[in-house]
Amino acid sequence: MKHQVESQIIANRRIHGDYFQVDFNAPEIARAAQPGQFVHVRIPLLEHRVLRRPFSIYNVEPAAGTVSVIYKVVGEGTECLSQTPADTVASLLGPLGCGFTVPATADVQPVIVAGGYGCAATYLLARRSPRKPVCLFGARTEADLLLVKEFEALGCEVRIATNDGSRGHRGFVTALLEPFLKAAQPRPVAVAACGPNPMLKAVAKDLLLHGLDGEISLDHAMCCGVGACFACVIKRKSDNPDGWEYARTCIDGPVFPASQTVWD
Ligand SMILES: Cc1cc2nc3c(=O)[nH]c(=O)nc-3n(C[C@H](O)[C@H](O)[C@H](O)COP(=O)(O)OP(=O)(O)OC[C@H]3O[C@@H](n4cnc5c(N)ncnc54)[C@H](O)[C@@H]3O)c2cc1C
Repeated sequence: MKHQVESQIIANRRIHGDYFQVDFNAPEIARAAQPGQFVHVRIPLLEHRVLRRPFSIYNVEPAAGTVSVIYKVVGEGTECLSQTPADTVASLLGPLGCGFTVPATADVQPVIVAGGYGCAATYLLARRSPRKPVCLFGARTEADLLLVKEFEALGCEVRIATNDGSRGHRGFVTALLEPFLKAAQPRPVAVAACGPNPMLKAVAKDLLLHGLDGEISLDHAMCCGVGACFACVIKRKSDNPDGWEYARTCIDGPVFPASQTVWD
């Protein structure tokens, strides 16, 4: 069930570099949120712009009523958000979209593959998984790594790849996924991925090459967030004669089975 709420910003602080965390007081959304869902935020200092901005729900504390988001300043909206002081009231719509599946039992080994702020979208999944995920985090350089300590505090094993080798494996995070794919049969693994499109494309391709499926959260620009405007359509595989159909990232996703993704 989604809610539109006028939400007070409890805290809004820089984590490091261009990355910030904002905590909203939004008890209805905190209670309803599932891993991988997002909130659509009307940014108060950007009231002259109609469009909300979508952000994955990083964490919720239902008892306290808080919903947290990690964001990177990339443009006008996120710049304005970063300058918004605590106590400001913002309109929030959420929780929106279809999120990740939480494994039902500890027999399944969850593996999270994340790049950049993509790890934020997977934190609730890690929190709620009966067996703690192995987390494979990729970044261009060490300074772009986020939330490593937070995932470790949950009991997750975090393995890191950086493009420049400043921390962990030098190269792409998909290299860290390879051993899990090879060892996957007959041991069941559940792979959940969120991050930049080239990473997601490589993860989806590797999964399918090994005869496995997984869940991929697509970060696609969107407008209304509730399925009305069709601005966020993507192609997904289908059984119809064309072999594909349009899907709306906002309500059919943002999380899709890897086996349904189409990468032109
Ligand atoms: C389901 C979903 C979840 C998201 N979760 C997060 C999150 O947890 N943290 C976070 O920082 N961002 C997240 N994003 C991306 C975030 O919505 C955009 O960065 C934000 O809307 C940019 O707004 P802006 O006004 O600052 O930038 P704009 O001025 O609109 O754009 C600035 C630059 O960012 C690019 N951009 C805009 N939207 C996106 C997008 N969706 N993906 C990639 N690039 C984009 C533009 O092409 C442009 O180059 C998510 C997006 C979606 C669809």
